[in-house]
Amino acid sequence: MNGDRRAELEQALAAVHKRIGEACAAAGRARDEVRLLAVTKTFPATDAALLADLGVTELAENRDQEAADKVAEVRELRPGAGIRWHMVGRLQRNKARSVARWADQVQSVDSVRLAEALAKAVRNARERGERQGPLEVLIQVSLDDSPGRGGCSLEEVNRLAEELTPSGDLSLRGLMAVAPLGADPAPAFERLARAAEELRRDHPEATELSAGMSGDLEQAIQHGSTCVRVGTALLGGRGLASP
Ligand SMILES: *Cc1c(COP(=O)(O)O)cnc(C)c1O
Repeated sequence: MNGDRRAELEQALAAVHKRIGEACAAAGRARDEVRLLAVTKTFPATDAALLADLGVTELAENRDQEAADKVAEVRELRPGAGIRWHMVGRLQRNKARSVARWADQVQSVDSVRLAEALAKAVRNARERGERQGPLEVLIQVSLDDSPGRGGCSLEEVNRLAEELTPSGDLSLRGLMAVAPLGADPAPAFERLARAAEELRRDHPEATELSAGMSGDLEQAIQHGSTCVRVGTALLGGRGLASP
């Protein structure tokens, strides 16, 4: 069984790498400018472990509770695999304490209040020896008008970045966004790219642009994405019940 799943993941991974490579070539960008983040939400820890075996060591989750359990499980399955875990989903402030224990990076920071809660949680976790370094954060930008999907407005990015910068517990690394539903993603990614460029002017360390998923990674790479977040194209469909 596990051998079959490994072969399946290996094949899907090769196809995704091929798409990323071709998109980089089409955009005139170097292949190593774009990292692959595997979104393992709804899939078991054993899949995450197999992906790590195949060299995919940047993994992402979108719900704290599922992630906290899975991260612990994968640590037992593959101790020393050197996996980096990213939180990419909407985050309530009361989950900050838990996320500070398992996440290396949170890509979904969209308010000063959430940033403050995370900074405090990271400080406490470091004091208790539950984590080593600061938490890397990306500011999530909303590219449409549906607040339910998270993200701050493009106008708010700079103010939020100013709030984040002085903290020694959070380290601002860039921007993240999800393309609007049911619309051509290209114009949205173009606006995002401009915002990322502007942010880098004042915050040169904020070099990451996390954009592009299974359905639109080519357009995102065309518009400067440095990190594509791929679930379905790697692991298969999640069914109707999952986000
Ligand atoms: C689920 C998810 C993804 C992956 O989406 P796919 O279409 O399955 O590749 C990327 N980003 C976020 C924020 C997600 O929640």
